[in-house]
Amino acid sequence: MAKIIRAQRAKSQRAKTSSVRSAPKTASAKTAKSLPKLAAKKAAKKAAKKAVKIKPWTAEEVYEAFSRFRKANPEPKGELEHLNPYTLLVAVVLSAQATDAGVNKATRALFAVADTPEKMIALGEETVRDYIKTIGLYRNKAKNVIALSEKLIAEFGGEVPRTRAEIESLPGAGRKTANVVLNMAFGERTMAVDTHVFRVGNRTGLAPGRTPLEVELGLEKVIPSEFMLHAHHWLILHGRYTCLARGPRCEVCLINDLCRWPEKTV
Ligand code: SF4
Repeated sequence: MAKIIRAQRAKSQRAKTSSVRSAPKTASAKTAKSLPKLAAKKAAKKAAKKAVKIKPWTAEEVYEAFSRFRKANPEPKGELEHLNPYTLLVAVVLSAQATDAGVNKATRALFAVADTPEKMIALGEETVRDYIKTIGLYRNKAKNVIALSEKLIAEFGGEVPRTRAEIESLPGAGRKTANVVLNMAFGERTMAVDTHVFRVGNRTGLAPGRTPLEVELGLEKVIPSEFMLHAHHWLILHGRYTCLARGPRCEVCLINDLCRWPEKTV
């Protein structure tokens, strides 16, 4: 009996020791796990401090920058191919998370047979899907193209509406789509913020912002109205061909003396 009691005591002692030993291990695992989070928080704080320190552009500097863009390319054009406001709307909806070149490749054949909502509905979702299957998220996009065509016919007489709220009410269309359509189809002074405009607005310090909407409103605030019709295209083209995401071509950049990016290479 004494033997059994001694064995039980030893067992309980071993359990206690191992739980004491394992305690620091659990704590250090937690710390290790939270380290990347802490580092990310620190980096974000540092970036925010840096952003605050960037000197805002003066009105003269903004005017100078856009005068240079205008001189270099007086009539900038978007690169999404379209035949009318309807095909522009469809092309922009298809361009979400896809390149303009990739969308054009698919829409050339699609728009040749369907350049109105009526013709698109007659084609049907399955056939539309076949035409656009080289574009990312094509199943959902085909669904949206048919649904937005139906809504255009049911609520807008088959025409693309001219207000932001109405365009945004269409399946697959958001604020950026509305801004592109209002600007390119109806000549309104809107600023569509895609990935390029977002990067250029932040890097240059023209309109820093954490969201596309902040950048959009910031750009609208600083860009003089005489440049607003084309400003969206100048900034997209600048981001696409000069201020590249990786390896910006600062040495040939038209506005490299005005740009506030601390990491610019000139
Ligand atoms: S100087 Fe460089 S970082 Fe600045 S806008 Fe030009 S290309 Fe972009």
